[in-house]
Amino acid sequence: MKGGGYAGGSPRLAAISAVTNYEQGPPMDFIDTPAQDVFYANVFSKSVMKERLPKTVYKALVATIDSGAELDAGIADIVAAAMKDWAMEKGATHYAHVFYPLTGLTAEKHDSFLVPDGEGSAVAEFSGAQLIQGEPDGSSFPSGGIRATFEARGYTIWDVTSPAYILENSNGRTLCIPTAFVSWTGEAMDKKTPVLRSMQALNKQAQRVLKLFGHTDGAMVSSTAGPEQEYFLIDKNFYYARPDLMTAGRTLFGAPPPKGQEFDDHYFGAITERVLSFMLDAERELSKLGIPVKTRHNEVAPGQYEIAPTFESANLATDHQQLMMTVLKKVADKYGMAWISHEKPFAGVNGSGKHVNFSMGSSTQGNLLDPGDTPHDNAQFLVFCAAVIRAVYKYQGLLRAVVASAGNDHRLGANEAPPAILSVFLGDQLTDVFEQIKKGGAKKSKAAGMMTVGVDMLPPIPKHAGDRNRTSPFAFTGNRFEFRAVGSNQSIAGPLVAMNTIVAESLDYCATELEKATKGKSDGLNAAVQDLLATIMKECDSIIFNGDGYSEEWHQEAEKRGLLNLKTAADALPYLKNKEVEKLLDKYQVLSPRELESRYEVYTEQYIGTVAVEANLTVEIGATMIFPAAVRYQNELAATAANLKALGYEFDTDTLDTVTALVKSLQDSIAALKKEMEHEGNGDPDAEARHACDKILPAMLEVRKYADALEGLVADDLWPLPTYQEMLFIK
Ligand code: ADP
Ligand code: MG
Repeated sequence: MKGGGYAGGSPRLAAISAVTNYEQGPPMDFIDTPAQDVFYANVFSKSVMKERLPKTVYKALVATIDSGAELDAGIADIVAAAMKDWAMEKGATHYAHVFYPLTGLTAEKHDSFLVPDGEGSAVAEFSGAQLIQGEPDGSSFPSGGIRATFEARGYTIWDVTSPAYILENSNGRTLCIPTAFVSWTGEAMDKKTPVLRSMQALNKQAQRVLKLFGHTDGAMVSSTAGPEQEYFLIDKNFYYARPDLMTAGRTLFGAPPPKGQEFDDHYFGAITERVLSFMLDAERELSKLGIPVKTRHNEVAPGQYEIAPTFESANLATDHQQLMMTVLKKVADKYGMAWISHEKPFAGVNGSGKHVNFSMGSSTQGNLLDPGDTPHDNAQFLVFCAAVIRAVYKYQGLLRAVVASAGNDHRLGANEAPPAILSVFLGDQLTDVFEQIKKGGAKKSKAAGMMTVGVDMLPPIPKHAGDRNRTSPFAFTGNRFEFRAVGSNQSIAGPLVAMNTIVAESLDYCATELEKATKGKSDGLNAAVQDLLATIMKECDSIIFNGDGYSEEWHQEAEKRGLLNLKTAADALPYLKNKEVEKLLDKYQVLSPRELESRYEVYTEQYIGTVAVEANLTVEIGATMIFPAAVRYQNELAATAANLKALGYEFDTDTLDTVTALVKSLQDSIAALKKEMEHEGNGDPDAEARHACDKILPAMLEVRKYADALEGLVADDLWPLPTYQEMLFIK
């Protein structure tokens, strides 16, 4: 292992010394303030509302939150006053409209509650108008086409369905109000607005299907999401000694460690004291914010972990997911660690995903993707399940596009994460059920063992599929689907918008077909469902695949089946311009063509920009850190050779020869990369993304190849960058 000596004073060796001497701060207080006391402590929750608001106001608000009833703006002043009093009692001095621009980050505009009264003191103010609407400067946020045509004036609008909360900081507390961010023409400039719109679309179509099954209570059907977040933790001293990790979020150099993950001893292994302290602290902070987290364990790679909050409605889950990332970063910092959310921070080591568990349900119907106990329930379940299958089949391109990013490209298809090909895993039993239906079970005799939907002969559908498959990008896991292609650093908004909308379209199709076939009579429903399911399976069952998604055979098989294989973001992002996709999002009023185009532009720019930053870093680190270290070592070897020769000794110059050749190759490859970077685009984002993907990234890998080879040769005390071994194993 490198780092044995401490000569040369390189930042790397100083980092190792600092890490070794890490001392933990004072322990947290779990006894005087037990966990249940802090749970929800900083949330303006329904129970706080109930306590502090007049009954009528409370009821009106809850109606909006639970069933999407239109908000009565008249109550805003009362809610604002109660919110302000509650927040100030908890020590808040400021309020902030929190919004979610297309950068994927969270943005906030802070304002003080206190305003001067003109007589030397101040009064606390927070009106309904201030609660409902804010006006941040929109010009600094990406808005793609929308910015191009319009002035970048934007408004933030209170999202009643996502509760306000207080964010604690060492120097104060802020009341945070989740908001949508729209342009003055009402166009969505953020990630939240389309999530809300797509949830409405899903609800509308789900109600039509439920009505056919006799459920007319209208309880809002909401999509639910539970994201499992994977991440890495490394000591901050290492982090700051790695400009690539710090600026690009991933290492652009680094030879594989002598001990990798092949021993598999990290997965579910013991969690170190320091990491456990971090986890407990983070959980406590999250629980104050009303984010209940469920699991924690070591992931496959060394230094990798996972956290999963309990599922919530899609909109809330999206906000909480963003907040969770912020909290984790902050708490890790407190324990001297960098929280790394990149999809592939370390080459050759498992990457990080964010599995989005997805379902839909209502307060009266429960989870609609839960197979029922009765044949009637099962028929309904099969319709909802088939609708999802059809949706994935029809909109593979869109689903791939919403998980496309420069970071996720390094993970998808890397034999550790699902391939870039979309397919649905159902498990053998459920697949068999659908196969039987496809063969026309209703018409064939029951005696032959065929299944008829909605009659007593229907076999019970397994509640929890026994078989699990980690290689599928879209897997049914007993009562929900798990979209595993999502990257660890991505907002889950895009994937949820896509899933909500494509499922809405499928449910629309199902409802329309069933309405046509039954003509309002309920006794024709079974036969109609049977026909519908058979039709869907005939059209779409090529998307179902229960085998090994990592295997080469699947890639060939998928091609035969005509499934899309969009390997990189450069291949996938153009699907945001696909006519079918545009029609879909427009029809269900989730994104107008212009809003969609702006997203295509912003995400493509992001991709190009990310690769450009990485390329710059590669040149900089290669030329100013690695090259000098290699040359110094080369010089040492050369001097030794010359001295020994002068004294009449033999000196084997093999190492010197190798180093010399590598130094030359390093120099040449840096020059070649620079040349690719100078490439002048013609303004076409597709072409520029292609260039980044096909020319710049491979040129970066060339530089890395020589640098990593040098890492194995250059004297340890001269090597400037913390190694993989050090970063992943020293804690
Ligand atoms: P596993 O590792 O087996 O996939 P985890 O317990 O790590 O399971 O994560 C499962 C996630 O799925 C949790 O976030 C959980 O809340 C979520 N989940 C469970 N039921 C639903 C549902 N009906 N809709 C959405 N997410 C769900
Ligand atoms: Mg999972």
